[in-house]
Amino acid sequence: MTEQLYRSDAYQRDCTARVLGVNERGGVILDRTVFYAAAGGQPGDKGTLEIDGGGTCPIATTVYDADKTTIVHVLPDGSTRPDVGQSVRVALDWDHRMKLMRMHTCLHLLCALVKFPVTGGQIGAEESRLDFDIEDADAVDKDKLTAGLNALIAADHPVSDRWITDAELDANPHLVRTMAVKPPKGSGRVRLVAIGEDGSVDLQPCGGTHVRRTGEIGPVAISRIEKKGKLNRRIRVAFAGE
Ligand SMILES: [Zn+2]
Repeated sequence: MTEQLYRSDAYQRDCTARVLGVNERGGVILDRTVFYAAAGGQPGDKGTLEIDGGGTCPIATTVYDADKTTIVHVLPDGSTRPDVGQSVRVALDWDHRMKLMRMHTCLHLLCALVKFPVTGGQIGAEESRLDFDIEDADAVDKDKLTAGLNALIAADHPVSDRWITDAELDANPHLVRTMAVKPPKGSGRVRLVAIGEDGSVDLQPCGGTHVRRTGEIGPVAISRIEKKGKLNRRIRVAFAGE
């Protein structure tokens, strides 16, 4: 299992680590990392890997190994791989990660405004989307949602997280908003992300990376609401004025 440094500090941009292995596809496994592995609709991080006493190569993306707890740093074909036991320094493409953190946090706010079950979603650095099962199509309006999101952003609500036990989550099933992405249970504890004091704006299990305050998201706009089925509505959000 890779120690996931972003879980305690999503703003840590780099770290040193020791190489535990290089898998059969050339992916590098470290004892710890600041890189988020693709999961829950959030893409894996990219950046650079610097080998102690050697060269620097790009990290194209980051994924989970089959065991779902080991993080694999994917290097482009032809890159020089470090040796097992070597010391390396990995650094995030911070501009990219920060956009994903702002977008990810914005999707929590969208969840807070659209009080219907979430059936899917994808985070992107420029545009993101959430799919909802909405019985009453008139319940969502592009301009009203844009205004609602920007009001929650401008209010600069704090974003925090805490851990609860699997049993506490089972006792509070209403906390789970996303049917498509089950909270990562099994380790005995689940990370709850709260927006607003005591989660007054949004409170749900989430393993992703978020900004510290909603004001950091900056202005956004609902770019499109698409009908994807009898009930399903796909709501797309983008940064405004970037
Ligand atoms: Zn989240």
